Amino acid sequence: MFEWLHQRLHAADKLGSRRKLRAVEPLTGSMRVRIESRELINFASNDYLGLAANRGEWTAVGGGSGASPLVSGYRPLQQQLEQKLATWKGTEAAFVFPSGFAANLAVLSSLPEAGDVILSDALNHASIIDGCRLSHAERVVYPHRDTAFVEAWLRTHRRRCKHCFIVTDSIFSMDGTRAPLIELAKLADEFEAILIVDEAHATGVFGATGAGLCEALNLTSDVPIRVGTLSKALGSVGGFVAGPQVVIDYLIQRGRSLIYSTALPQPSLQLSLAALEQMPLLQEARLRLQAIADWVRHELQRSGFDTGYSDSQIVPVILHDNQAVIRASDDLRASGYWVPAIRPPTVPTDTARLRISLSAAHEDSEVEGLLRACHQLARARR
Ligand code: PMP
Repeated sequence: MFEWLHQRLHAADKLGSRRKLRAVEPLTGSMRVRIESRELINFASNDYLGLAANRGEWTAVGGGSGASPLVSGYRPLQQQLEQKLATWKGTEAAFVFPSGFAANLAVLSSLPEAGDVILSDALNHASIIDGCRLSHAERVVYPHRDTAFVEAWLRTHRRRCKHCFIVTDSIFSMDGTRAPLIELAKLADEFEAILIVDEAHATGVFGATGAGLCEALNLTSDVPIRVGTLSKALGSVGGFVAGPQVVIDYLIQRGRSLIYSTALPQPSLQLSLAALEQMPLLQEARLRLQAIADWVRHELQRSGFDTGYSDSQIVPVILHDNQAVIRASDDLRASGYWVPAIRPPTVPTDTARLRISLSAAHEDSEVEGLLRACHQLARARR
């Protein structure tokens, strides 16, 4: 599937233009670093005042990474985190980005090129949309979760494009809907398309070890490229891409949001590593989260609210009108509940909504209180 990437990497090797990543371990309190077991004086950092280097002395947690990964910001801890992420996600490799946004930008702006096509769900996250916009490939936006559209498009047009990518969120952030991953994986297989899935809201939440919806649906080997974030269920910060080694190697060569942005600092990496250790142990929390979501959806629907096609921990309450949604959010806040009003252009015109984002850490009494406040809202709207 990725022979073309191997060829491009070989071409870069021949030209001597292939970038090499080295893990750089800072030696606290100085500009010295350790690279491949050798101590060196670091003249590659942007730590102009020495604050990151000396930080260990005054905060104990260590400072910023001081540079982008290819320059001198790539820490052994990042490498360790990537190995663990790859094992967890069941892929050959992974790479950690400053954010999930940066991860999507890198994948979509570098892999698809002119002559290729990207099929993208209409409700995909802004970072996917922007990544597609940065690519020179043709973009085709398909109606939300419409696999019939995708199939018809592939049947008619697949032959005329070189590489074809299908990109989708697995859980949609403003609707809480699930992507039709089984059908998309079948289509990708039939039409030799490459399926890219953003598991931002599913990572930690779905699957027996929390690896995401692909794990839950047994699709790990059918979805070659999976994006995730460390900032949601993992409670840390950063994003990642998990996939074949050649894809990761290529992103290191061509992903501009990776090459030209400062790598994550050690405290964030440590936080992510600690969260990752926990992931397989949190099945009870995952089950509780889905049980709360079912309960909330059921009660809201009983009050006459439209919760769309939510099937996850994200539950929208679609009120359509911008003013109505602002009033509802204000009323809930007055009752002690923070539920944001989401309006266009974040969501399509006429679909303004409250967005309830549930957590296994919500106590039953807190959820009951929210539901009581929502019932009151419903009565006031009648
Ligand atoms: N993808 C999706 C689906 C998201 O919802 C988000 C965050 N809102 C991102 C990517 C970006 O992740 P990060 O916050 O780590 O940049």
